Amino acid sequence: MKKIVILGSTGSIGTQTLNVVSSFPDDFKVVGLSAGSNLDLLEQQVLKFHPSFVYYHDHTDLHSVTELHGSRFTSMEEMASDPQVDLVMVATSGRVGLEPTLAALRSGKKVALANKEVIVMAGELITSLAEHTGAQLLPVDSEPSAIWQCLRGEDKDPLRIFITASGGAFRNRPPQELFEVTPEQALQHPTWNMGRKITVDSATLMNKAFEVMESHWLFGIPWESINVVIHPQSIIHSMVEFVDGSIKAQLGPPDMRLPIQYSLFYPQRVANYSLPRLDPLTIGSLSFSPLIPEQYPCFQVALDALKRGGTYPAVVNAADEVAVGLFLNRRIGFMDIYQLIQETVRKHTPSHQNTLEAIIEADFWAREHVMSIVRQ
Ligand code: NDP
Ligand code: MG
Repeated sequence: MKKIVILGSTGSIGTQTLNVVSSFPDDFKVVGLSAGSNLDLLEQQVLKFHPSFVYYHDHTDLHSVTELHGSRFTSMEEMASDPQVDLVMVATSGRVGLEPTLAALRSGKKVALANKEVIVMAGELITSLAEHTGAQLLPVDSEPSAIWQCLRGEDKDPLRIFITASGGAFRNRPPQELFEVTPEQALQHPTWNMGRKITVDSATLMNKAFEVMESHWLFGIPWESINVVIHPQSIIHSMVEFVDGSIKAQLGPPDMRLPIQYSLFYPQRVANYSLPRLDPLTIGSLSFSPLIPEQYPCFQVALDALKRGGTYPAVVNAADEVAVGLFLNRRIGFMDIYQLIQETVRKHTPSHQNTLEAIIEADFWAREHVMSIVRQ
């Protein structure tokens, strides 16, 4: 039985992970749960799964708690590195998952990493740490999971990979029409039901720039071999081309429980009949079109900066996280997200030291810089 910690258990990936785990009561024991602000849901989860550890970020609500319904209060770092834990699902969103991921990797755990911002900020640091300690990094995001599944059993490096993108909420609208769009409109994703931040990142296509970076670090694929194609149906989750010209693709319904389950059981594949199945006869047609960079200015500015390496990725990530938060709180417009990221990247003096301190300093600087522009 695998002992599992789920960080961000109240979110979209967190609740879907618990849904998968509930289908396999003989295979998993939940030993840690953590949440940001949704205390009601966290309490329900604690009462159902009886974890040893619990963490709740807004714990000032609880007046000096030491336990919640019998589960001991601790930090996410501590539960992620506890000796009894086998697997850590990092399902937090944004920068908050960085230190717990590092703690789990330092302790040699299996780490199912949904929290892609952690790879964006510190790809080199976390992959080299995993190599050093023997910890296993397990992709969760559907596109890297598809690439992972296509690469399995192959002994030659792939020639090219094709990451698919739905195009997000505004895929048929030019950027000049997007100045007035509201958070509610940006949160209407055409094919996936996800947390708020990643849904806005999908509308700007920042999410796709992040997935290019995820694929680069998780599989060591050179930048020039990574392509992005628009595929509105979100049925093919990515494709890999090999030296002989064959292309493998992974297909599935747009339901994250499938890649989540693959990461939890890897290298096994298991049957779970509570998940939706894809009937090829009902799919209809699958279409592909090129990504037009002018339509997604965030994608291009982010990808250029991510490829420059050093502290640029941490800066892009931090600027995006703050800008998306401001947009969701109606403090800025949708197109300001791009302006703020571009301006912050332009002003950054990069460090090429690959240290946690340099990354955290750049993250801090970028957050402050975005806020200073907004306050002007
Ligand atoms: P959500 O916003 O739905 O969930 C985030 C989780 O993190 C919640 O449990 C939230 O708690 C918790 N959290 C937030 N702040 C803190 C904090 N300071 N301390 C502890 N916990 C905190 O995000 P998603 O589930 O959509 O996404 C999670 C990650 O997975 C992201 O990096 C995303 O890019 C990636 N991903 C998501 C996909 C999806 O389908 N959702 C698909 C592929 C990747 P609370 O709700 O209690 O505030
Ligand atoms: Mg994805």
